[in-house]
Parts: sequence; C-alpha cells; structure tokens
Amino acid sequence: MKEKIGKVFKERFGEGGAIYASAGRINLIGEHTDYNDGFVFPGAIDKVIMAEIKPNGMEKVRVFSIDIDEYTEFGLKEEDAPHASWARYIFGICREIQKRGGEVKGFDAVFAGNVPLGAGLSSSAALESCFAFALNDLFNGNRIDKFELAKIGQSTEHNYCGVNCGIMDQFASVFGRKGNLIRLDCRSMEYEYFPFDPKDYRLVLVDSRVKHELADSPYNKRRASCERVAKALGLPSLRDADMEALDRIKGDITAEDYFRAKFVIEEKQRVLDVCEALNRGDYPTVGKKMYETHRGLSKDYEVSCEELDFLNDEAARIGVTGSRIMGGGFGGCTINLVKNDLHDRFVKEITEAFEKKYGHEPKIYDVVISDGARKLD
Ligand code: ADP
Ligand code: MG
Repeated sequence: MKEKIGKVFKERFGEGGAIYASAGRINLIGEHTDYNDGFVFPGAIDKVIMAEIKPNGMEKVRVFSIDIDEYTEFGLKEEDAPHASWARYIFGICREIQKRGGEVKGFDAVFAGNVPLGAGLSSSAALESCFAFALNDLFNGNRIDKFELAKIGQSTEHNYCGVNCGIMDQFASVFGRKGNLIRLDCRSMEYEYFPFDPKDYRLVLVDSRVKHELADSPYNKRRASCERVAKALGLPSLRDADMEALDRIKGDITAEDYFRAKFVIEEKQRVLDVCEALNRGDYPTVGKKMYETHRGLSKDYEVSCEELDFLNDEAARIGVTGSRIMGGGFGGCTINLVKNDLHDRFVKEITEAFEKKYGHEPKIYDVVISDGARKLD
C-alpha cells in the first residue's frame, strides 16, 4: 500500500511527503454501554487508512483517493466544503482543527486503505484520525492532545457527515496500541490499557452483510428504556445501578424496561470481568463473557436478528471460545475468539452453513490488535 501511494503521489504532485496511517477498530465487549455512562473496550486493528501528505504552499487542499479513484480540491473556509462524501471527512478535519484555533494550510495528499467500508470496523474513524494526526504533526507541532484529535474526528462526523456518533471509534483509532485493548470509562473519559496478545487465539469477524433496521427508532427506544429505569432508581444513569436495586423496583417498571436495564447492568460488570481475566491471560473466561453478552443482546436487549443468532449458534457448535454481536445490532458482524487450530475449520464451516441458509456468503476478516494513528518512517 505504501509503495502504491508513493508512486501515485509522485506522479500527481512530484516529490514525496510524509506518510501517516490510522486504524479501524473492534470492540471486544461493552455494547450499548456508552450512553449509559458505562465502559467500552475497543482496540485498533491491522487494517488502516494510509496517506502521504505534503504542504503545498497554497490556500487549498488537493487530494486523490486511490480506492475511489477520484480527485478533488477544496479551500479551507466553511463555504468551501466539497461534494464528494469521502472528501468531506478530510475537509471536516481541517475545519474542526481551525475552529479550535489550530493551524491548517494547503496540502497535497494521496490516500488508500484496507479497512472494509461499512462493515462495522469504522473506516471513517480511521480516515479521520489519519488526517487529524497528520495535520497536527505537519502544521501544529503536535500541540493538539490526542483526546482532542479524537474529538475532532467525532465533530467531523457530526458537523460534516451527518452521523451522530459517540467517541469510541475515533478514540480507539487515535489511542490504539499493538497488543492492547483500551477500557474507556464513558462517564469520566478515563482510560486504561489491558494486554490482549493471545498466542493461541485469533480474532475473527464474520460479517453477515445484512442490515435490518435502518431507522434510529429501536436505538432511541432502548435509550428511553434505560433513562426511565435510571429515573425510577433515582440515579443519573444506569452506571450506578446494580441488580439488587433493579429487583427492588421491579414492580414499578415494565417487564421490557426491566430486561433492558438488566442487560446494561450485567454488561457493565462483564467489561470489568473481562479486563481482570485479561490481566491473568485467562482467555476462556473472556470467551464465556462474550457468549453471555450475545445472549443478553439477543434475549434481554433484543437487538439481535436471525442471521446473527445463527452465526452465534454455529460458532458455539464448532467450539469457538467466544462469540457475540459487535456493534449496535440488527445486522453487521459477530466478533469471535477462535483457537488457532480451529480457525480454518471455523471459517469454512460457518461460511458454508451461512450461505446454505441465507443464500449469500458472510465476509470473514481476521484482525490483529495493532497500533492506532502514527507517522510511518
Ligand atoms: P464505517 O462503518 O466503515 O465507518 P461509514 O459509512 O461510517 O462506514 O464510513 C465509510 C465512508 O468513509 C466511505 O463511504 C468513504 O466516504 C469513507 N472511506 C472509508 N474508507 C475509505 C477509503 N479507503 N477511501 C476513500 N474513502 C473511504
Ligand atoms: Mg463510520
């Protein structure tokens, strides 16, 4: 990828610039916890967006996307927003840096990537943090701190791409570290690294390539349930709730709200349990918790779907150590913790079984926990 980018850069812009990369991400456990002030547990992966960038002494940005095979240029004022959606991510990063008093001058860039688009691995966060990191290095002497870089990515999604996302994806992409997952406390924004470097296991994503709920309404309904229960408990959020307290008010809330809150309370604890297990190198416990999360998402939180439950059942049948829905649900991927010696059989059997039942193959992505945003030599 690096050679290809270098070659194209040279053809288009002449002498080469500096090269930067940032990664997509997975979330091992901690789903639907962010808006409940709980924990998420993401890590950067070995799938990246890479860009060669050089200041051009002009007032404009000239950029070529190798994968989309499109060139565009734009100025750096608010009214200069480009039309191409891929370029809006880059424009947004420039603008959000400027809004914070940072410097961005004209530059030339060529970029490419291998984070699958729209598969739940956050290619958009990889793109944002690659450019945010690069522009901080090239024009701001790295004075913008890493958390602010993540927020610059998040604000880009909000203000220039119409996606009202949380901070996790950009956080993981910026802070990712090889062989480590990062537990982020969504209330205090404190974070802590935990080792994830299994010698005997691999992480495998199985993308069902289905999406059942396009509207936001199920998401908003889950949120509303959580808020109602927190209120009934007299708490600002479910973060501080436990099962004892929930059981005390069981008669005052609907059965549906009860099970929604039960999932959130149990999921918070599962993230903490998984972190402890990783400190001991206890991957079987990690896997067990992943299955518990899936069951909770499916039965209590009701955000699964037939295809995802099928993938989870198949993983269990084949003897995979851990498996669960990754992301909001209603489609997308499962994340699987798979013993090395089971890997090939797992991929083959789950692909065949899924295709037989649903008429199309799932996509398989092997991922390794790797570094996030960085400059390459
Ligand atoms: P994801 O879940 O992967 O983040 P999004 O829809 O949020 O999916 O972001 C995908 C968008 O990000 C693409 O439509 C494109 O605009 C941009 N993008 C991601 N990867 C690339 C790439 N390699 N080249 C150009 N644009 C990309
Ligand atoms: Mg995205």
